[in-house]
Amino acid sequence: MAKTIITGATVVTMNDRREVFCPGYIGVDGSKIDFVSNGRPDDVKWNEALEIDASSCIAIPGLINGHTHSGMTMMRGVADDMPLMKWLETKIWPMEAKLTPEDSYWGSKLAALEMIRGGITCFNDMYWHSHQAAKACEETGIRAVLSGVLIGTQANPENQLQQAVDIVSEWSGKNHDRIKFYFGPHALYTCPPKYLEKVVSHAEELSTGIHIHLSETEGEVEKCKLEYNGKSPVEVMEEIGVFSRPTIAAHCIHLSDRDIEILASRNVAAVHNPSSNMKLAAGVMDVDYLLRMGVNVSLGTDSAASNNNLSILTEMRMASLLQKIHKGDPTVLPAGRVLELATRNGATALGMEDRLGQLEAGFDADIVLIRNNQLHSSPPTDPISHLVYSLRPDDVDTVMIAGEIILRNSRFINADVEEVIAKSKEVIDRIIV
Ligand SMILES: [Zn+2]
Repeated sequence: MAKTIITGATVVTMNDRREVFCPGYIGVDGSKIDFVSNGRPDDVKWNEALEIDASSCIAIPGLINGHTHSGMTMMRGVADDMPLMKWLETKIWPMEAKLTPEDSYWGSKLAALEMIRGGITCFNDMYWHSHQAAKACEETGIRAVLSGVLIGTQANPENQLQQAVDIVSEWSGKNHDRIKFYFGPHALYTCPPKYLEKVVSHAEELSTGIHIHLSETEGEVEKCKLEYNGKSPVEVMEEIGVFSRPTIAAHCIHLSDRDIEILASRNVAAVHNPSSNMKLAAGVMDVDYLLRMGVNVSLGTDSAASNNNLSILTEMRMASLLQKIHKGDPTVLPAGRVLELATRNGATALGMEDRLGQLEAGFDADIVLIRNNQLHSSPPTDPISHLVYSLRPDDVDTVMIAGEIILRNSRFINADVEEVIAKSKEVIDRIIV
């Protein structure tokens, strides 16, 4: 098995002891981290290893994007500055009606490359043609939890569900190291309770989880209360039994104390998407309060149509600044905490906290090296402050996923970036409305 030794980096481990080694050393054996330490080991087995001098870099566990729609990346910049429903009805849905499976493949590939380039090694996705997203992930090497979107209020919801059952069954049989499949019912307002019940029973049968949007807008919650005897979307979903499966819920903005209690007691993973929430004026998740009440909160970008970038480095800064202005308190969501959301909490949300989110012996070797010697990152003072407040996606130098080097010196080892950029133009020229 190939061995790699990373030397001289400032290693922000995010392990249980939150150790930072400066200079630090990381040994990778095959797909796993063998050691992380503040000294080079004497063991001769490392003499033959590939050596990466990372003395000008910070090393972190690969960032985790807890919520996105990768195939939608083709729609970047064509539907800005609109309210959510008008955005969906006049722009997104008409363009999606023209989107072929091949278009989704190129969208997912563009997304995967943008994410890797910015230090994301794992993402949680919901979109049409999810088998095409799987192909894009296999080709680029990124890790993902994928779900085909399910909309119970559209034509042929049963066909959509059958297709989802087929693909979840197919991929659970593969026992793939990097790709898992969940079910992706879009939201309660697009998936009526009877339909959601069927999704839950299939998820139970196939031992998998659910990825859904939840309480994103005030209007959604008000409409739900009118339809369901004053119950909130969280309460309705609890009654249906959605939370009996591992559930990742995007947004979770408009919540009552009772809702928060349910999310905490059912271990529902809430995903905060600060840029998208600001852009669509959806509201502000009370991240600080949710964390204090015991809810696992991670970070997501949402789609490139509502962000418009897929950068968790940017979302970390956004999350921290937004929470401070929202609470009128500069001490909330400090840098170290927000880095937890993007690493350890993301891993927990995806049920992979024993494998991802830390630089620790025995964990998967998903490692990101970020240059820390540029004008905007000088002087190199507090690495955790720089990660959250100063560094940019373009500073990412090296990305390793499961021990495989995907990006080195900011260049992809094995991806035709120009081809993906050219294809994205071809697709949008055809589908734009
Ligand atoms: Zn979304």
